[in-house]
Amino acid sequence: MIKHIIATALLLPAFIGVGAQDAMPAPSVVAAPMEMSDSLELHTALLNEGFLIPSDQLYPTWENSGVHYTATLPDSLRIDLRKFVMPTTNTKITDVFGYRPRRRRAHNGIDIKVQRGDTIRAAFDGKVRITAYQRRGYGHYVVIRHGNGLETVYAHLQRKLVTEDQNVKAGDPIGLGGNSGRSTGPHLHFETVLMGKSLNPALFFDFPNQKTTGEFYTYYKPGTRHYDAKSGKMVVEGPEPKYHKVRRGETVSTIARKHGVSQRTIFKLNGINARTILRVGQKLRYQ
Ligand SMILES: [Zn+2]
Repeated sequence: MIKHIIATALLLPAFIGVGAQDAMPAPSVVAAPMEMSDSLELHTALLNEGFLIPSDQLYPTWENSGVHYTATLPDSLRIDLRKFVMPTTNTKITDVFGYRPRRRRAHNGIDIKVQRGDTIRAAFDGKVRITAYQRRGYGHYVVIRHGNGLETVYAHLQRKLVTEDQNVKAGDPIGLGGNSGRSTGPHLHFETVLMGKSLNPALFFDFPNQKTTGEFYTYYKPGTRHYDAKSGKMVVEGPEPKYHKVRRGETVSTIARKHGVSQRTIFKLNGINARTILRVGQKLRYQ
């Protein structure tokens, strides 16, 4: 663990605070009760202490294309969620993040029902990286890069209200809700993306209750060992889900053997049992 932190620190000095902070008592600057007016000072202090990483260290380049891409994510990243505004006041989630058996494809964001023309707002301060139109996908969409390291995507807009390279404040109107692109009714498709990788927006935003999940969210790369404050133990961050597409003649038993897991694991992960009949083409989660 110590060796790991040192190795990371040599490469990326700013990361040492992230790892060290989880193993040590929180510094008073974090533990002290906070007023909103202290927020900027605190943010600066955290940056100076290396507890937060400014987005320009995560993203050395700036270009107006490509929402998703493959990059090496940090082992951990503490993301500041304090200065937020909910992108929409609507609270009804119509589709969740992740793989959807119903559509047989992954969903990179969450869908929130909106009315045509509803104001859609920037979730945090940031700079507009992409505004574009995708007839068979996102429709009119906007991507914003934020100082906390996240990027947010707002899709199926009726209209965009910002332009590329424009600076925005949390809460600034960035578009109007709509039904453009591949969409079957007015809704906001909202994504939270870290260095090209979509993460579940529900890790950060609670749309039904119109708030964030906390003041900070710490991202851990799958497989990373870290301190878990809830249990007070060191834990290993779970692996990313993996799926198997069922082919003719396969059974849970053969699929389990193929991936080196138990049948019970597959039953549990998919909410099925030994009597469930598999369909060809169906995707089963095995990790
Ligand atoms: Zn969606």
